[in-house]
Amino acid sequence: MPEAQTTTCAISGGGPAGIMLGLLLARAGVHTTVLEKHGDFLRDFRGDTVHPSTLRLMDELGLVERLEAIPHQNLTRVRMATRTRPVIDVDLDRFTRWEYRHIAMIPQWDFLTLLVGHAQRYPTFQLLMESEVLGPIEEDGAVRGLRYRDATGEHDLRAVLTVAADGRRSDLRRAAGMVPTELGAPMDVLWLRISRRPGDPSGLGGVIGQGEMAAMIDRGDYWQIAFLIPKGSYEQVRARGLEDLRDRLARLMPSLADRVGEIDDWDKAAFLEVGMNRLHRWDRPGLLAIGDAAHTMSPIGGVGINLAVQDAVATANLLAEPLYRAQADPARFDRTFNPDLVRRVQRRRAVPTIGTQAVQQIIQRHVIDRALANAEPRLPRIADGPRGRRLLSQVVARVMVFGLLPEHVRTPERRAEAHAVART
Ligand SMILES: Cc1cc2nc3c(=O)[nH]c(=O)nc-3n(C[C@H](O)[C@H](O)[C@H](O)COP(=O)(O)OP(=O)(O)OC[C@H]3O[C@@H](n4cnc5c(N)ncnc54)[C@H](O)[C@@H]3O)c2cc1C
Repeated sequence: MPEAQTTTCAISGGGPAGIMLGLLLARAGVHTTVLEKHGDFLRDFRGDTVHPSTLRLMDELGLVERLEAIPHQNLTRVRMATRTRPVIDVDLDRFTRWEYRHIAMIPQWDFLTLLVGHAQRYPTFQLLMESEVLGPIEEDGAVRGLRYRDATGEHDLRAVLTVAADGRRSDLRRAAGMVPTELGAPMDVLWLRISRRPGDPSGLGGVIGQGEMAAMIDRGDYWQIAFLIPKGSYEQVRARGLEDLRDRLARLMPSLADRVGEIDDWDKAAFLEVGMNRLHRWDRPGLLAIGDAAHTMSPIGGVGINLAVQDAVATANLLAEPLYRAQADPARFDRTFNPDLVRRVQRRRAVPTIGTQAVQQIIQRHVIDRALANAEPRLPRIADGPRGRRLLSQVVARVMVFGLLPEHVRTPERRAEAHAVART
C-alpha cells in the first residue's frame, strides 16, 4: 500500500485564489499543497484586470515592482455611454485617498507565474501541476483531505484543512455536495480582439447600441472587446453568420468599422457562458470554498480575480495562525479543524461578495437586459443631471474598482522557522 501523503492545507485549483492562499500560508510557515489540473497557466483569455486593492496587496508583499515590470497597460478612465448620453464617466486618479488609482491589465498567467515564483522561495509551499482533484476524503462526516490523479495514478492527500479554489465549475464543491444558488444573468459574452490605432480613445469603455452592447478594453495595440449577446443565443448568433456579427460590431462601434473584418473566423470570437451564483454556506467540516468556487461573479467590472485574491488574503489572515499551531498536534489528521474558525472566512467576505453581486445585478437588470432588448437603460433619476451622473460614477467605481472592505496582508513571514517544521 503506498505511503499516505500529508500536508497541513490542501488547495484544489491554481488560479488567483488558490495560488495567493498557498503563497500566504506557506509564507506564514504552514505546509501547503496546491493542486492544479493543467500543466501550465497559459489558459485562454481569463481576464486580466488587476484592481487597486490587489495592487496594494502586491505592494504589501513586496511584489509590486516586479508586477509593474511585466509589460502591461494601466487604465485610469472608466466610461459607459448610451447612443444619446454618457452614463458613467470616472477618472480613477481622482480617488486621491487611494494609493493605487489605476487598473493594471496584466495577463493572468504572468500574474500567477509571479506569485508562484515568490511562493516557491518558501519550503512549505508545494505546487503539483497536472494533478486533478477527484473529490474529498471523508471520515466521520468531515473532510480530511482530497483524492487526486496525476500521471502516476490516483493518490490520497490527507490535510488538516482542504480548500476548494477550483473555480466556477469546482469539482471538489460538487463532490462535497455543496450547491450554489444561481442568481442569473441576462447575457453571454463573445470575446474578440480588434486592432487599436493611434488616435483611438483610451481606457475602459462601455457602449450601448440598438439591441447590442459591448465593453471595450484598451490593450495598447488592440481592443479586447466583450460583445454581449442575450443569454442562450450563441447558436442563433452563429447561425446568422460572421457577416452579420461584423455588421453589428460596426454599427455599435462605428470607429472600428474599418477593422471588424479582422473577425474572419469563429475561433476569433471566444464564447463565455456568463453565470452569477454563490454558495449559501462556504464551508463544511474540514472544507472551505473560496473565489469563484464560492461565488461566481458576473464579468461586469472585471472583479472576479480581485475578489478571489481578497478571499485568499482573508482566509490566510483568519486561519494561518491556527493552522500553524495545529502542525504541532500529532493527531491533526484525525481531528476536525475548528469549524467555527473556518466559518469566519465567509462572515468576513459576505459583505463584499453580496454587495458587489448586488451592484452587478442592478446593472444587469437596468442596463444590460434592457440594452439587449433594444430599450433605453432605466437609470436612477439622480443620473439625469451631470452632478448625479458624477455621483453614480463614483459609487460604481468605489464598489467595482476599489472594492468593498479591501483586505490587507496580516500574516507573518516565517522563512527560517518554516524549515524547522517537520513534514510528516
Ligand atoms: C473569459 C473570461 C474572462 C474573464 N474576465 C475577467 C476580467 O476581466 N477580470 C476579472 O477580474 N475576472 C475575469 N474573469 C473571471 C476570473 O477569471 C475569475 O473570477 C477568477 O479567475 C477566479 O479565480 P479563482 O482562483 O477562484 O478560480 P479560477 O481562476 O477559475 O482558477 C481555478 C483553477 O482550478 C483549476 N481546477 C479546476 N478543477 C480542478 C480540479 N478538479 N483539480 C485541480 N485543479 C482544478 C483550474 O484549472 C484553474 O486553474 C473572467 C473569466 C473568464 C472565463
